[in-house]
Amino acid sequence: MRPATRCSICGGTTFRRREVLWQRLIDEWQISPAEVDYIDRQQGERCGDCRANLRSVALASALLSVFRSEDTLSAFVDSPAAAGFKVLEVNTAGNLHATLERMPGHVFGAYPEMDMHALPFADGSFDVVVHSDTLEHVADPIHALAECRRVLRPGGALCFTAPVIIGRMSRSREGLAPSYHGNAEEKRGDWVVRTEFGADLWAFVMEAGFERIQLFSVGYPAGLAWAAYREGVS
Ligand SMILES: [Zn+2]
Repeated sequence: MRPATRCSICGGTTFRRREVLWQRLIDEWQISPAEVDYIDRQQGERCGDCRANLRSVALASALLSVFRSEDTLSAFVDSPAAAGFKVLEVNTAGNLHATLERMPGHVFGAYPEMDMHALPFADGSFDVVVHSDTLEHVADPIHALAECRRVLRPGGALCFTAPVIIGRMSRSREGLAPSYHGNAEEKRGDWVVRTEFGADLWAFVMEAGFERIQLFSVGYPAGLAWAAYREGVS
């Protein structure tokens, strides 16, 4: 039996699972039954109270670490301390959008209208940048990560998730049949998967210029989230 999971967003302790992957995607990714199992948990196992899935719970844990808060995310965003952070959310961050937008310093950029390769903000504009399962869709993930770092102040952090197959290395899907996330009918070009991340995801983050990475897991390896820090004195 695995240890009980506590939802870092609302504090709930009941999680329910629904299968979310479909056969064509499983075939395109060439993943094993064990990999199907943990990716289904990552995307489809949800808090019974706030409905957040495991990847969102992991991402909220990363954010709370950066915010240096021991509260749930829901309690934190309504606290006075939340007003001290400028947060850029690129694309709807999993199930966290409705919570994050309660922060006074929250800025939202929809994807793909807001281009992760050309964020319309000055250097050092934010304390935190957050995105969830978006990096696999951009043309050049190292450049996009570097762009997220550029808009962070020294000492700031990028918190993100991306689908990862932990037992293999990352591969570009360039030259492979197009594969789409979202649902089985999704065919929009913006949602074509360009990179399948593997165990070397950390190298993309370091090559983008970040100096330090923390990994957060919920029900490892189902829910994984990263905090990547821009070091320096602000
Ligand atoms: Zn919850």
